[in-house]
Amino acid sequence: MSGIPPKSIKLTSGLDECPAIGPRRRLRLERRGIRNVVDLLYSFPFRYEDRRVRLTIADLREGVETGLLATVRSIRKKNVPKLKAPIIEAEIFDRTGDLPVVWFGQEYLLKRLPEGSQAFFFGKVEYSTFSRSLVLRSPVTERVDPEEGLRKSYHVGRIVPVYREEEGISSAVFRRLTGDMLRSLWGETFDPLPPDVLREAGLMDWFPAIVAMHFPKETDRPLEELLLPSYPPRARLIFEEFFLLEYLMTVRKRSIASTGRSWTLPSGGDPSIDRFERGLPFPLTEAQKRACREILEDLSSTHPMNRFLLGDVGSGKTLVAAFAILQAIRQGRQAAFLAPTEILAQQHGRTLSQVFGAMRPEEGGDPLRPVLLSNAVRGLDRRRILSGLATGDQKLVVGTHAILEEGVPFHDLGMVVIDEQHKFGVAQRRALATKGQSPDVLVMTATPIPRSLALSYYGDLEISLIDELPPGRQPVATHVVKDAGESFWIKKILPALQRKEQVFVVYPLIEESETVDAKNAMDACATLSSLFPAHRVGLLTGRASGAEKESVMEQFRRGELDILVATTVIEVGVDVPNATIMVVENAERFGLAQLHQLRGRIGRGGLPGTFFLVPGPATGPEGQRRLRILEAYSDGFHVAEEDLRMRGPGEFMGVRQSGLPMFLLADLVRDTETLVQARTMASRFVEEAALREGAAWEISRMEEFLRLRYRNVDQWLSIR
Ligand code: ADP
Ligand code: MG
Repeated sequence: MSGIPPKSIKLTSGLDECPAIGPRRRLRLERRGIRNVVDLLYSFPFRYEDRRVRLTIADLREGVETGLLATVRSIRKKNVPKLKAPIIEAEIFDRTGDLPVVWFGQEYLLKRLPEGSQAFFFGKVEYSTFSRSLVLRSPVTERVDPEEGLRKSYHVGRIVPVYREEEGISSAVFRRLTGDMLRSLWGETFDPLPPDVLREAGLMDWFPAIVAMHFPKETDRPLEELLLPSYPPRARLIFEEFFLLEYLMTVRKRSIASTGRSWTLPSGGDPSIDRFERGLPFPLTEAQKRACREILEDLSSTHPMNRFLLGDVGSGKTLVAAFAILQAIRQGRQAAFLAPTEILAQQHGRTLSQVFGAMRPEEGGDPLRPVLLSNAVRGLDRRRILSGLATGDQKLVVGTHAILEEGVPFHDLGMVVIDEQHKFGVAQRRALATKGQSPDVLVMTATPIPRSLALSYYGDLEISLIDELPPGRQPVATHVVKDAGESFWIKKILPALQRKEQVFVVYPLIEESETVDAKNAMDACATLSSLFPAHRVGLLTGRASGAEKESVMEQFRRGELDILVATTVIEVGVDVPNATIMVVENAERFGLAQLHQLRGRIGRGGLPGTFFLVPGPATGPEGQRRLRILEAYSDGFHVAEEDLRMRGPGEFMGVRQSGLPMFLLADLVRDTETLVQARTMASRFVEEAALREGAAWEISRMEEFLRLRYRNVDQWLSIR
């Protein structure tokens, strides 16, 4: 057969080294994200079709789709005046009978299937009222070389793979490309996974697994089973995806662990938690104390902390962060607290001032005073802050991305806290970390993340879980509202306003239609003002300046506004205890986790809250179903799990921005057990590799494969 790449094709070959792939096709493949041989092999079919020969001509019935092995008795072209293309008619036979075949167009078949040739035919049998007989219509065909027999056909006479047709590459072309590629790699013994790991996990070898994913062996079981994670080739590749990611994570974790720290806290630091607690107006929850203890342990170890603080909205993560900051400053080092928005930075600054304010006499005052740094801080103020940070006189800075800028030097940055870590990319995390000498890092998220995500994409971090809310939290009832007309506002919202409670109204702000969304918020503001003339309505959009935002927020906080109409800027953690109601417009445009986060903004004082979700008019049943999840579950971890299930990890918590490999076959929710197994084995592999001969080779093979398969791997293999 022509077009088969010669044996010189290797896994490391680029597409330009494959003779079967010309420049045009290469371009199309590249547009599908396929840049090398490995990419091509990992472009798996999304389903399979049974094109085996199961029937003879005598068995045929109308409507049956079948494969036949038959010989061409005659074939001819017929021009039909009204049709643009000619009709090709043939007569084929096997030992049981004759059958007419018709194609429209496809003149090349005259050459490909000359009289007397043997071929496979796969198509649908129909009854022709014209010839009053069964006819096989437009079958897929392939010549059979009597010597080669079945084995050579990619398209018929077997279970065939069906690929997505994108960028002008048909499923059939794809089938031939992968088929030829596999044939030229035949006997390949490469395996990215270490042999011991394979053996222990009881998995198939790499090449047979790849082959069987594209061209499955004969099976009498339903073809759907080939799509299940239990299909052995698939199981192997799912494990592989997890193992490779966990390998990356383990290596990162270890390289952090091998970095020394310049100071350590004397161990047995529990009294410092008590001391901290005495400065607070309320006792810490058990979960907060546990997280503080875990942080103390990190700080008394010989390598920097790299910890992920997970907890539901309102679980009190900020205080735990404050505790961590306190430890660093007590050692004379500097701390930086990074928040994604100015409002949030201001709020954190206020919280820290309050918390540390109570401790100041004991601590000797000044070092715990936070300064705020954002792009709004300019001129003399900014210069004063920068010089304080450079000399080390200023110990604590709270701020936005502005802290990350190059011209912001630190004297001795020892502690980095990042709130809403998913709003920052890896590069930004690294930028901050490199401002000190391997500082301790604590990252937080306002949205709980499912365990599987923590174990995979955040697998390089230690995890502290705050699984308890402070006492006295009020339940928040959630309702999806069908019609948010005037009567909704009068019936549901007015009573709360009359009780002097406050209301948030939230609009999504999606960049492409920023002006439309902002206008929606403005219109709502006007409508609500006229609907509730006795109450004060404020407007907060992303377009306002920092000072404007802060002044509106301050008015709302002080109760000078009753209703605050806002685009998502309030998403990230404002604390207004008297706000009991939130109405989210066009709720279908938010992620579930984000909505859950918004929900955490109410019910913070002593009063129960109500969360109304108003889907936009175009919301489909799927969108409705998503919102109902929030109605059903108040627990953030559960919501996050559902969100992950529905959207996949790419859209989740900045995973795509992280530049880490996306899973092709593995499913974080479905395959959690495999994930846990792969994680355990990857970390054991890395640990033992140091002691084992031959491991270096296994590692280099694995890393070489990772580079072929994914981008950015080196970024993740390097420290932080
Ligand atoms: P989140 O985890 O969402 O960042 P915060 O740190 O903003 O939560 O805390 C939410 C609210 O709970 C704040 O008003 C904070 O003062 C309060 N809080 C935190 N810890 C406790 C506690 N142990 N007891 C009572 N209230 C607490
Ligand atoms: Mg928070």
